[in-house]
Amino acid sequence: MHSPNKTLWDIVIVGGGLSGLALAAELAAPDFAQLSVLVLDQRSGYTRDRTWSYWRPDVGVIHRYQHLERACWSRWFVGANGQNSTCTSTQHVYATLDADAFYKAAQDLIASAKHVQLRLNTSVAALHKQGAVHHIDLTSHECLNARWVFDARPSAQSTDHSLVQQFEGWEVHTAQDAFDPDTVQLMAFEPHAQGLHFWYVLPYSPRQALIESTWISPATWQPDYVQELMSYVNQRVQEKTYEVVYREQGVLSLAPPADTHFSATALGRGAGTLRPSTGYAFLDSLDHARRLANSLRAALRNQQLAQWQPTAFVRPARQAWLDAVFLAALRRDWLLAPAYFLRLFERVPSDTLLAFLTGHASLAQQMAVMWALPVAPFAGAALRQFWTQGRYA
Ligand SMILES: Cc1cc2nc3c(=O)[nH]c(=O)nc-3n(C[C@H](O)[C@H](O)[C@H](O)COP(=O)(O)OP(=O)(O)OC[C@H]3O[C@@H](n4cnc5c(N)ncnc54)[C@H](O)[C@@H]3O)c2cc1C
Repeated sequence: MHSPNKTLWDIVIVGGGLSGLALAAELAAPDFAQLSVLVLDQRSGYTRDRTWSYWRPDVGVIHRYQHLERACWSRWFVGANGQNSTCTSTQHVYATLDADAFYKAAQDLIASAKHVQLRLNTSVAALHKQGAVHHIDLTSHECLNARWVFDARPSAQSTDHSLVQQFEGWEVHTAQDAFDPDTVQLMAFEPHAQGLHFWYVLPYSPRQALIESTWISPATWQPDYVQELMSYVNQRVQEKTYEVVYREQGVLSLAPPADTHFSATALGRGAGTLRPSTGYAFLDSLDHARRLANSLRAALRNQQLAQWQPTAFVRPARQAWLDAVFLAALRRDWLLAPAYFLRLFERVPSDTLLAFLTGHASLAQQMAVMWALPVAPFAGAALRQFWTQGRYA
């Protein structure tokens, strides 16, 4: 039995990770001081639990946490079957930001606003709506009420044959120089029949790097990360001694999110901000938060708060369709998949490929990417996708 609490919050955000905190931080602006905003998260505190990397234009500020980036690079390489392709860009950089820096900055913004509260150690059991009021049932049996609810809880982990991107990374510090700090190792493939396996290395300095063993595979595949990482790191740093100062792990579903949010507006991975072909979600999550805040700001300015309808995150249909085709072609034969990536990085000009990877490609750029891929497996995958899901479903 949930005990009702009479307070009616304007906005409750369930889940204060990337997307929930990003929205709360936007709503901490003085423009929203007349509203009450509550963020609920089951965690007891924030630590560095992930490393967000992404491509962004080399000039200009594209998000408010950019000054917190730990490093950025304009050179990266992809390697497969003894072949390497090193790319540089004059327009984009690959940037990385440690999660704890973002968590602290967002919490500081929230703490500076009296109208926004963050409640940790609070687990949400269920959401439902009666009339115009949302009810948020906590596992502590308390029930909260709100006018608008945002749900940033990720969907349940897949355990079947649907595709996931799964990885474990170690930040390694070595006693002597072991890494080229100018070049990110984006993907060094080790062909495997169970999935697409590659090594990802972010070289923070000649003696510091995040080394990640990454798989795109059916969720049923369980990599032996400790064995893999120990052997790779030993070989990478050779005789040099090293210390593992940080570890992170993730299992990210690449399937479209299930629409389980009913009346609440989904945020983050549950809303589809994770791009299936890349596993990136950071910039799309921040962008969705910014767009929601802007539409709410406009509603307040026009005195139309009562009619405000939060905008759902929507991935452009053609992009979603191309991603589905790409993943379907990859899983047809995992042993051939590394060669597809190598072709892309070798044949498509860096900035065209980056426009595609960052979701900003024109139709001509999308076509240039598709033309670089081998016709038979991709045409087959496109036809199957067409018959099973429709054109851009
Ligand atoms: C280790 C790791 C590395 C990643 N690296 C990158 C990267 O380099 N680039 C990139 O773009 N993306 C990356 N991602 C993917 C994606 O950006 C992150 O997963 C991101 O954190 C997703 O944001 P989110 O808000 O959807 O989920 P989260 O940040 O996971 O937030 C969800 C929140 O909901 C809370 N929660 C869950 N259930 C409940 C409940 N019942 N009640 C209350 N609270 C609840 C959780 O405690 C959590 O704080 C990475 C993911 C991981 C795990």
